[in-house]
Amino acid sequence: MTTYKFAKVPSGGNRIGYDAGALRVPNNPIIPFVEGDGTGADIWRASVRVFDAAIQKAYGDERRVHWMEVYAGEKAYTNHGDWLPQETVDAMQEFRVSIKGPLTTPVGGGIRSLNVTLRQVLDLYACIRPVRYFEGVGSPMREPNKLNIVVFRENTEDVYAGIEWKAGSPEAKKVRDFLVSSFDVEIREGSALGIKPMSEFGSKRLIEMAIRYALKHCLPSVTLMHKGNIMKFTEGAFRDWGYDVARAKFGESTVSEADLVKGGAAARADAVIIKDRIADSMFQQLLLRPDEYSVIATPNLNGDYVSDAAAAQVGGLGMAPGGNVGDGLAVFEATHGTAPKYANKDKINPGSVILSGVMMFEYMGWTEAAELIVRGIESAIRSRRVTYDLARQMPGSTEVSTSEFGNQVIKGMGS
Ligand code: NAP
Repeated sequence: MTTYKFAKVPSGGNRIGYDAGALRVPNNPIIPFVEGDGTGADIWRASVRVFDAAIQKAYGDERRVHWMEVYAGEKAYTNHGDWLPQETVDAMQEFRVSIKGPLTTPVGGGIRSLNVTLRQVLDLYACIRPVRYFEGVGSPMREPNKLNIVVFRENTEDVYAGIEWKAGSPEAKKVRDFLVSSFDVEIREGSALGIKPMSEFGSKRLIEMAIRYALKHCLPSVTLMHKGNIMKFTEGAFRDWGYDVARAKFGESTVSEADLVKGGAAARADAVIIKDRIADSMFQQLLLRPDEYSVIATPNLNGDYVSDAAAAQVGGLGMAPGGNVGDGLAVFEATHGTAPKYANKDKINPGSVILSGVMMFEYMGWTEAAELIVRGIESAIRSRRVTYDLARQMPGSTEVSTSEFGNQVIKGMGS
């Protein structure tokens, strides 16, 4: 067991366990949280009140989360001289379920992204991002309610694995020389180079998680989004491995779109349909025929783009939650960044962290609390008392602060 130097383990709580592929959640779990940089503190203050209120309302005194602050990012660096203390990673491992606000990542040098590091070190191989519309939010789409998807983005491989070399560096030169001399490929001298590793293991486990999710939630389809027409051995293989895993592990409960079109015995109406789409086509499909898609499983870079683009279709990043999930381990997080210009102004939308909490409670099996929060958000938006980002897209609405929006959500949970 880890000895914590900076964080304090709450005395009244218990650890979440993991046994035979299932979480064992006590009534008083200890959940580590990272407040986050920039606007993180404002957002966390509002969010945690919403979480506690939902638990109290759903379970009375029977259940309670014991929050444990752990440190990463600027707060960790300023107070403890370390951007990501090892004990923070250990806490996320030991307590299994945690939640974090956004963390600063310097562009083009300096420290490596803390978010990417956490995902890799803890092997949180799926980044799950549900995107749905809340009635009343301003949207650039005519029928934003038609979009209701869950993106499963591979989290540990692809170009985001961060294997790259700077232009002009001896390493880049060495790799270029090797490629040019061994494989007769053309690479312009002085190029920066990056490697895109994608494994059968990494792709299949992600796609398997996506299919299990679709089955558990009775969703109609899983679409493999890839760029396999050009990157045949990486993205193309992702698609093939996806169909393989569907056939091998879910033969009875899935059907490929191609088999469905052929009809006959293979066309089972109750099965989850496995489709695939080339990445560029996927973007236009989500704009033109969003209701034909449900779960999307995709490699890392595609997933990054599509989840933000989809979030924009339903009103923006302020309301987009995310979870990084491995086997019996999960870190839920806002999908937006630190929005530093709004730091400490009590202005920003806390919806992304609040909805990440909804995902967290669903993951823990605390669905009653999750449903109450969703009800609270729906009601807050219906009341048209919303933060600036939503207010500027909702004519006739009243702009409220981060904390006031949190109050609206709590009020909206009903009596
Ligand atoms: P950002 O922090 O997401 O902010 C960009 C803009 O998005 C904001 O100026 C604001 O738009 C809008 N926005 C973001 N969060 C919002 C919220 N909660 N409510 C309402 N509007 C919101 O992106 P960035 O400026 O590119 O990145 C800043 C820092 O965050 C960087 O260091 C980056 O590396 C880091 N980052 C961290 C994470 C993470 O921790 N998961 C993710 C992405 C980026 P308006 O200006 O139009 O109001």
